[in-house]
Amino acid sequence: MIELVSEERCIRCDICERVCPAFVFDRDETGLPVIARQDACQTCFLCEIYCPTDALYVAEHAHGPVAVDAAAIEAAGLFGSYARALGWRRGRADGTRDDPTHRLRSAQG
Ligand code: SF4
Ligand code: SF4
Repeated sequence: MIELVSEERCIRCDICERVCPAFVFDRDETGLPVIARQDACQTCFLCEIYCPTDALYVAEHAHGPVAVDAAAIEAAGLFGSYARALGWRRGRADGTRDDPTHRLRSAQG
């Protein structure tokens, strides 16, 4: 479940609000996303994956609001960690380069 938007990391691009299929976010007067309908969150991670600055934290096992500390999340490297685990590039090393699946397909072809 979505738990946190980092005010420091967020560049107010509005992408999370647009990709969220459950319309969880509103925006405050500065453009910062506000978690307005947390109970509607589907824990789909789309907001985290699309966020260009890793400003969102989605807790995969939470079914409601949990106590989160932005500094602790930052220190633990958890902002954007799901997207990184998927190999989402966004300026990072290619996550599919070492995926052997394409080699299996090449061997079959
Ligand atoms: S995890 Fe999915 S449903 Fe939840 S806020 Fe992000 S985009 Fe919306
Ligand atoms: S996608 Fe990330 S940077 Fe853009 S508004 Fe949402 S939290 Fe902020």
